[in-house]
Amino acid sequence: MRGGQDSVRAPVLRFTNCRLLRAGKLLREDLWVREGRILDPEKLFFDEQRLADQQRDCGGCILAPGFIDVQINGGFGVDFSQATEDVGSGVALVAQKILAHGVTSFCPTLVTSPPEVYHKVLPHIPVKRGGPHGAGVLGVHLEGPFISQQKRGAHPEAHLRSFEANAFKDVLATYGCLDNVCILTLAPELDRSHEVIRELTALGIRVSLGHSVADLQMAEKAVQSGATFITHLFNAMLPFHHRDPGIVGLLTSDQVPAGRCVFYGMIADGIHTNPAALRIAHRAHPQGLVLVTDAIPALGLGNGRHTLGQQVVEVDELSAYVAGTTTLCGSIAPMDVCVRNFLEATGCSLESALEAASLHPAQLLGLEECKGTLDFGADADFVLLDDALHVQATYISGELVWQAEVARP
Ligand SMILES: [Zn+2]
Repeated sequence: MRGGQDSVRAPVLRFTNCRLLRAGKLLREDLWVREGRILDPEKLFFDEQRLADQQRDCGGCILAPGFIDVQINGGFGVDFSQATEDVGSGVALVAQKILAHGVTSFCPTLVTSPPEVYHKVLPHIPVKRGGPHGAGVLGVHLEGPFISQQKRGAHPEAHLRSFEANAFKDVLATYGCLDNVCILTLAPELDRSHEVIRELTALGIRVSLGHSVADLQMAEKAVQSGATFITHLFNAMLPFHHRDPGIVGLLTSDQVPAGRCVFYGMIADGIHTNPAALRIAHRAHPQGLVLVTDAIPALGLGNGRHTLGQQVVEVDELSAYVAGTTTLCGSIAPMDVCVRNFLEATGCSLESALEAASLHPAQLLGLEECKGTLDFGADADFVLLDDALHVQATYISGELVWQAEVARP
């Protein structure tokens, strides 16, 4: 139970000796937690005349909001897009393993699949709170099948679809049910996409533009219809051209409705995006940058042949390709590696790198009141990091859920 007398009696935890990320700055302050949420210590002191019941020394670490991965296809041998009998335990395994990488919540992502796979899998991936069992599930990210044939990347051609006469009904028939879905990637150049974008947005689902040959004008129209995200910027879209910058042009467009922020996913695994391109995107529109792993089942498995949806992929060191081709098909770099790569590639501040993996994805999903920040009242989901941003410990609702075996010097 939250609130009332029970809440007041619940123990207060105080995390000391840390630099915590708040309002875009690393501050030498303590973090106070009660019942899984961040407390205002002044209010506690003046209103309740209370002090902490327990103190935890953070050893001088950086204390940042837990990372949120809005695009992850699987990992550790689990493929969310494989309609196995036991989808739920696959999601649970990944949820547990990504704690070591500082991820406290995520959006399991399904690549283009036949309708029967969606019908079978989607009901088994409900929104779920995180805890010692694993990172929380914020909702599913559906990537495809309503995408461009030319820019399908690793998505199987046979299962691609367009919007038919009864567009939204067709969407519902394809997926079965959208109750557990929070992001949907589509190509806005498909006929009737605007109708679909408006319907999805009205349901609170974030529409993302990707795997698309849309020009800038089409992309702007999609944003005006409600799209708020770009799926893995630069990858699987038209390259930037100065007379038609395509979807990439949304980063500096003057046609985005006032007060709206277009977010964009970036795979900062050191393979998918050249560091100079990362810098261009970041400098053009730093507030919209969302780090995603786009991790595939081979994450954490090493070299060899693995699966992604209906395809076979080949992993060689840091790269993953559709077997027998040179088509990249997602990454095998975990989130903490992406944060460090991003920091190094862009030369941005530590604060910016951390916010790109926490605050921005939370804002994209409209969850910034409770996730992605260490503001008073937010969920106490956070990660302890050393100065080189190696994860030392991960907490969900103020509870330790993962800890490095040997503290780094
Ligand atoms: Zn993709």
